[in-house]
Amino acid sequence: MKRLVLILAASLASSYVQAQSSYVGFHLSAIASSRFETQLQFALTEGSMKTRWSFREAFTVRFVQLVAVLAMLATSRGEEQALILGYHHIGVSNGVTQEVSQVELERQLRSLLALGYVFVTTGRALETLETVPLVASVTFDDGYADAYSEALPVLRRLGIPATVFIIVARVNEPGFMSWEQLKVLRSAGWEVASHTVSHAELTDLSPTGLERELLGAKETLMLRLGSPVHCVAYPFGRHDRRVRQAAAMTYDCGVTTAPGLNTKRADAWALRRPLTSPLDVQGLSWRAGSGTDLRVALLAPAFAYWLLPAGAEGRRPAFYNPARYELMGDGQLGFRWQGGNLYQDVFLRTGDFATSAIFSRLGTGYVEVTGTIHLAVAAFGIGWSTEGAVLATALPLGGYGEVWGRMSVQTWALGAELIPLDYARLKTEVNSDRGFSMEVGFAPPVMVAEGRPLRMFSGLDGSWYGGSSLRLGGLETSLSVDATGAVGLAFTSSW
Ligand SMILES: [Zn+2]
Repeated sequence: MKRLVLILAASLASSYVQAQSSYVGFHLSAIASSRFETQLQFALTEGSMKTRWSFREAFTVRFVQLVAVLAMLATSRGEEQALILGYHHIGVSNGVTQEVSQVELERQLRSLLALGYVFVTTGRALETLETVPLVASVTFDDGYADAYSEALPVLRRLGIPATVFIIVARVNEPGFMSWEQLKVLRSAGWEVASHTVSHAELTDLSPTGLERELLGAKETLMLRLGSPVHCVAYPFGRHDRRVRQAAAMTYDCGVTTAPGLNTKRADAWALRRPLTSPLDVQGLSWRAGSGTDLRVALLAPAFAYWLLPAGAEGRRPAFYNPARYELMGDGQLGFRWQGGNLYQDVFLRTGDFATSAIFSRLGTGYVEVTGTIHLAVAAFGIGWSTEGAVLATALPLGGYGEVWGRMSVQTWALGAELIPLDYARLKTEVNSDRGFSMEVGFAPPVMVAEGRPLRMFSGLDGSWYGGSSLRLGGLETSLSVDATGAVGLAFTSSW
């Protein structure tokens, strides 16, 4: 029975995320349901030949999703919604960042126009919701030259304005737009907005670094273009409470890459914006049709928990803070192979409420699920674990990180996660069952303009270990080895 409840909860959580998923296909599907039209509507909008087949194959997934979508509709029926779409390259590929062809872009936008969406710039999305129920906003990140050469003609033809998020330091560089082109976009009704000065990884910056990237970009844009700057798009879609607060001091809105739609009550500094990914061109119809996306891994805890051999007594991985507060984006999904244990963890935030869960059945099996509320001064959580009830809390440290505590009937833990300097991170934990653990991490200044994708870390958790990690957008893979020669592997996706 306990398993059944767990599986149901995990499935529902996954359906909720997938229902608000990153892909236009699924948005249209959810929208279609809300209008009592058929799911097959999205076969038209995605041009997928396989939708019918996938629907049958994935019936169970669909059924659970349908229940979740209906539950969402029951609470949000008739509610206005703003859909913000994230694009990068149009008609040009750099092999890494998503490319959408002009034809595909036009088809996607026409399908939304047909559904009654009114297109506005991102800075006006929420205010437009006051009078228009279905609002959409098209955005292009990074300021590539093809936003001007390829996207502008399509959007002009459709009479749609868009928003470009500019990496200020890259304007006038080869492959990027010039200040003159940005002025043309502005006179075409587009919004020219900020994507920071250097495309820095904001969640790794100290308060000084945040000001340099956020305020610095706004000042340059205003000076060069002579017009107000409303929004910022967080590079790599990565943000935390510190970043959102710093953005709120400088901008009217902040845009993430979180899946989902925005209601009138949406957090203006954490606007949800599904990104088209490199896999979308080839894989979108399959993933949309089968109801899966990259976050399908959310389903894995439910299934893997069943399939994996049962472990002995429970044990948490080091630095597991169930009540993340200051260092919390909208979501994170992780798989960790560590010390003979396979952990899967999930963090999800909606406004002031967050859920975290960790599952491990291999090695020393462990399950913990916590719900947290974020108040003005701290986060408070309550949950259930293999050790029984759990209480958790976290407190911010003035923009430099947070301290956290966790207590169950059997164990307690106190920890801190700090960002003392740009791209440096320090984690410590003291707990009742395994003593002291710590980790120091640093991203050397390699590829500065791309947010320093390479990271190194070293720490102590039973024995000394060291490793490095590599980031690609919201994804991170890390490899470590400890003094006994044991290898650790982790994969995380953050948004
Ligand atoms: Zn970017």
